[in-house]
Amino acid sequence: MPADHKSAPAVATVDDPWEMALRQFSQAAGRLSMKRGIQEFLATPQRELTVHFPVNMDDGSVRVFTGYRVHHSVILGPTKGGIRYHQDVTLNEVRALSMWMTWKCALVNLPYGGAKGGVVVDPKTLSPGELERMTRRYASEITVFMNPRGDIPAPDVGTNAQIMAWIMDTFSMHHGHSVAAVVTGKPIAIGGSVGRKEATGRGVMFAAREAARLVGLPWRGAPVVVQGFGNVGSATARLMWDEGCTIIATSDVRGGIHDPRGLDLPALKRHVAATGSVVGFPGAEPISNRDLLELPCTYLVPAALEGQITGANADRIRARVIVEGANGPTTPDADEILDARGITVVPDILANAGGVVVSYFEWVQDLQSLFWSEDDINRRLERLMVRSVQEVAALAREQGINFRLAALQRAVSRVADALMTRGIYP
Ligand code: NAD
Repeated sequence: MPADHKSAPAVATVDDPWEMALRQFSQAAGRLSMKRGIQEFLATPQRELTVHFPVNMDDGSVRVFTGYRVHHSVILGPTKGGIRYHQDVTLNEVRALSMWMTWKCALVNLPYGGAKGGVVVDPKTLSPGELERMTRRYASEITVFMNPRGDIPAPDVGTNAQIMAWIMDTFSMHHGHSVAAVVTGKPIAIGGSVGRKEATGRGVMFAAREAARLVGLPWRGAPVVVQGFGNVGSATARLMWDEGCTIIATSDVRGGIHDPRGLDLPALKRHVAATGSVVGFPGAEPISNRDLLELPCTYLVPAALEGQITGANADRIRARVIVEGANGPTTPDADEILDARGITVVPDILANAGGVVVSYFEWVQDLQSLFWSEDDINRRLERLMVRSVQEVAALAREQGINFRLAALQRAVSRVADALMTRGIYP
């Protein structure tokens, strides 16, 4: 592991997703026979880029921003991973997210390694012009890492299709022709894929439904709590609502809403479009993000940020199944407590893989300049998600381990096998 991590605490904390990712990795790697050096290599991001760059602000000042792009592994193919705009982005967070992308892509058999990027900024504090200039400059700065055959970004927290469009356009301007395949999650008009916007949420829904079937829990009418009503959370809530589940609570950074009779999702979507938040939705009671996690429900979908279910609140979680829409919402300490309490966790690298699956479909369509129907995309996604959940559940059952460890073990062994098959250059 990189030298600057040696002084980091041995126990994962909510503040350090990288320590969390390393602890998860070593649990899985410890169950596989792997040379020490191979384990060390897989525990280390292969390339890390830190950039500091200036942007002209609307008031005539110049502001310097810091951004990152990390390639965790290029063993299985070009790297894939989102770009996050958030004021708390750190290099360690980007490292963790890039490692999780490696395992996620391997788990669902995509020919990709893992990457992630981020800029330390609260995008809501920028004007549209500042956001565009910052994005275009960040895209230029990471061009040494990013290209359609080597590293393909996508949206994550704080970024969206418009931001992907600016990145695609910036890269294309530098190359003198349109390069649609350099990012995914783009608007459909410029080479985006139908079904990509809701793909992560749709995948979370498929994973939850298949887990419900395997674990033997009710589905239609079952109470669901969704933390975070952004891209992933809102699509998950809507699609589970379409399936007949009862969405009893949801939230965003400003707070939560609770109605045990069930929220009307189309009306909530209109409320959010009009006000920018779920807060104040007529007929629902306010609830804090912390209390919302502890509501009794069948399915709890954390879909905001890392480190939400920890050693401090895991013993108060009253869900039967946690389906991780977010990356890293449950710490290893919490995993142990949830395990002991018989709560099933469908882990992030499995539950939220739908986003990268449809990003892969988008990339393939762009490279071929041949586009598929939404029906085709959703059916392929469903098959892949259902099969992946079944494979993880079967391994978990066979080895007497939880879904997270089974998913990680399967993913890590695929990457390690590929590395040994390719051999170590030179
Ligand atoms: P987003 O920015 O669209 O939405 C994030 C949501 O979380 C917003 O509603 C925001 O208000 C809320 N939020 C932020 N801080 C919060 C807090 N402290 N408490 C409660 N809510 C809070 O982001 P997204 O793309 O939906 O990503 C959400 C999670 O899903 C992240 O962990 C991301 O890495 C993961 N993910 C996203 C994708 C994707 O395709 N976008 C794919 C896989 C995983």
